[in-house]
This record gives sequence, structure tokens and C-alpha cells, in this order.
Amino acid sequence: MDDQSSLRFPQIGARTVRDKWLEQFADSPDVLKSARCEQTIVPVLDLEIGGDEFITMAGPCSVETEFQLIAIANHVRRAGARILRGGAFKPRSSPYAFQGHGLEGLKMLAHAREESGLAIVTEVMSECDVSLVAEYADILQIGTRNMENYTLLEAAARSGRPVLLKRGMVATIADLLRSAQIILDNGNPNVILCERGIRTFETATRNTFDVAAIALLKSISHLPVIADPSHAAGHRELVPALARIAVAAEADGLLVEVHPKPEKAWSDGEQTLDFNAFDDMMASLDPYIALRGSRVPARTSSGARAMEAVG
Ligand code: PEP
Ligand code: MN
Repeated sequence: MDDQSSLRFPQIGARTVRDKWLEQFADSPDVLKSARCEQTIVPVLDLEIGGDEFITMAGPCSVETEFQLIAIANHVRRAGARILRGGAFKPRSSPYAFQGHGLEGLKMLAHAREESGLAIVTEVMSECDVSLVAEYADILQIGTRNMENYTLLEAAARSGRPVLLKRGMVATIADLLRSAQIILDNGNPNVILCERGIRTFETATRNTFDVAAIALLKSISHLPVIADPSHAAGHRELVPALARIAVAAEADGLLVEVHPKPEKAWSDGEQTLDFNAFDDMMASLDPYIALRGSRVPARTSSGARAMEAVG
């Protein structure tokens, strides 16, 4: 056995585990791996989520200004991100916090896509907004607070856009898979699961990053799995380590919050990386991604830190 083969992730173990879960996830049969479907690949513009490439989605928690959004898009693209994230409709813990720019934010995202070439993922919070958001976004994000909103899931499914389904704060893996099943049942096979941390008795982190859920979902489901270390950690210092753990757990990609001045961000600043921290995190992922065999690193060039205008 050479050094490389001893470092490979165990594939045979995953197959054995899989059968044991079939009963527990019987309510969502179509999301489980089968001889017919071992892996779903979700096409998004020229990208494939769930394929060989590790896909990083990065951007601000909320869309703030167009100038700033384009600066962020260009920066994260140079560092290896393939998709721009940013909320135009924001679910907030406080009713008095910034709720997002709505349609104006969607227009800014579309403009940032034109400028940077990055695909767009953004949240839709209400079934009334699905057709509007689907006009501008390449992927519809269903937030943690809406994971079990079946009316919204059905509307999002029928839009035909890929759906990034975030795990509910207190949702079990079976709950998450049931929601994914609803989207499949409504004719949309392009579902991306997202582990973003769950609520536990621990308060030192914003949520508890359920890394076992990533490993389990990858072994039982054919749907791509994305990890969100930002909302899991709640503290920016922890985000790079959680991102590396997600790679090792076989996630298909990341959703990460990035802002030129996190301390001034309109939402979720404490968990947001600045440009330098994002570059460092991306560089630190390469050796972990390289260990995964056929999957290619997120970046082809390393260490380049572009000087960016910030807004
Ligand atoms: C977000 O992505 O900014 C967000 C609100 O995420 P979640 O739904 O996971 O809290
Ligand atoms: Mn956020």
C-alpha cells in the first residue's frame, strides 16, 4: 500500500452503513442512494454541484450596496469561489433588524453576476416571492426557519430552479430528508442539502456543527451536501477549521459569509470573514481537497491576494 492509498477516504464502509438507515429514512425513499442513482449532479450555469469540483459559495450575509457586492464578488471569485451568496430577503432574529433590500437586492445580485460571472444563490422566504426570486437567482435558498414550510418548498420546487435546502435549527436528519423529498415529489430533482449547525445545549458557539450529519448524508443520500461553517460557528475565528472539517467529511462544497469590513456588516458580522481571512481559508482547504482523490481543488492559483476597493 503506498502513502496515497492509505490516505483515501473509506468507500466500502459507507456502503455497509447505508443499508442500516433505510428503515429510518423510509419516508423519503427518493433521496436515498440506489442502484439507479448514486449521485445527483446539480447543474448551475457552467458548474456542477455534487461532481468532482469542490464548490465554494461566498458573499455577504445581506446584500448591502451594489458597489460593495461587486467588490466582494470579484474578490471571492479570484480566491476560488464559484457562486456568490447574499440575502435580499432576510429572516432575522429581531423584527427590528435589517430585513433586506428585496427586489433592489435581487437586481444588485444580477448585476454582480454580470460583472463577475459568478452564479447567484439567495434566499426566498415566502411562496409569494418565489417567481420573483427565481427570475434573478440561479439557486433558491430555503432558510433554516423555513425548512418545514411545505407550501414554500412546493413553490420553490415548481420554479424549476435548483434549491439549496438548509437544515432546520431543530430538525433531525430524517426531517431534512423529508423536506428534500417534497421538492423531488414536486418535480424538481435539483436539491442541495445544507448543514448549517443545529441548536443544542451548547452556547459557546452559535449552533453546533453536526459534522456527523454531513458524513451520514453523504453515505445515504445521492443529493449534494454543502456545509455552512459561518452560521454553525457564529464566530469568524472558528470558520476556517469547520470548513476544513467539512471537506474531510466529504461535503461537496461550502457556503461562507465574507465582507470587506465584517465589523460594519449589516448582519452576522461576528461570523463573517474579511477578504484576507477568506483567502487564507481557501488556501488552507487545498491539501484537504487533494486528499479526496478525483475531486479537484477549489483554486488553481495560490496565494494571490487582490487589492480590492471596499464599500
Ligand atoms: C443566511 O444564510 O444568511 C441565513 C439566514 O442562514 P440560516 O437560514 O441558516 O440561518
Ligand atoms: Mn447570515
